[in-house]
Amino acid sequence: IIEHKWFEFGKDEEGNDLSKTVISREYSSEWKVGDEPYYPVNDAKNGELYQKYRALADKETKVTFGGRLGEYKYYDMDAVIDSALKCASQMLK
Ligand SMILES: Cc1cc2nc3c(=O)[nH]c(=O)nc-3n(C[C@H](O)[C@H](O)[C@H](O)COP(=O)(O)OP(=O)(O)OC[C@H]3O[C@@H](n4cnc5c(N)ncnc54)[C@H](O)[C@@H]3O)c2cc1C
Repeated sequence: IIEHKWFEFGKDEEGNDLSKTVISREYSSEWKVGDEPYYPVNDAKNGELYQKYRALADKETKVTFGGRLGEYKYYDMDAVIDSALKCASQMLK
């Protein structure tokens, strides 16, 4: 549940707290054609396809693939930043 007043719509034009609050609820759902593909689906078929891309990526000497897209992996923000920092420190050694 997102309660918007904590990051937007929380004040009136004079900066006073509003007397009402607005919440949104998020529900998970299966992806279908027309939806934006937000999350990697780590099933066997996609895992095999990813391994093929990984093999090609490993041959690249001047490109590093990282993050959700590059590693085809579910990451939250803190985890992806941690992974990027570790990758950078490895590269800069
Ligand atoms: C709806 C939603 C809600 C989320 N909520 C949270 C949350 O509440 N808390 C939290 O911690 N995390 C949340 N996340 C996760 C967080 O957004 C991701 O973990 C993080 O953005 C992943 O970073 P990334 O660098 O791997 O990928 P991204 O941030 O997706 O960056 C990938 C970049 O690559 C670019 N790109 C793609 N293809 C190409 C190409 N061919 N050539 C060049 N560039 C390309 C894209 O434009 C994009 O800028 C949420 C994600 C989504 C989708």
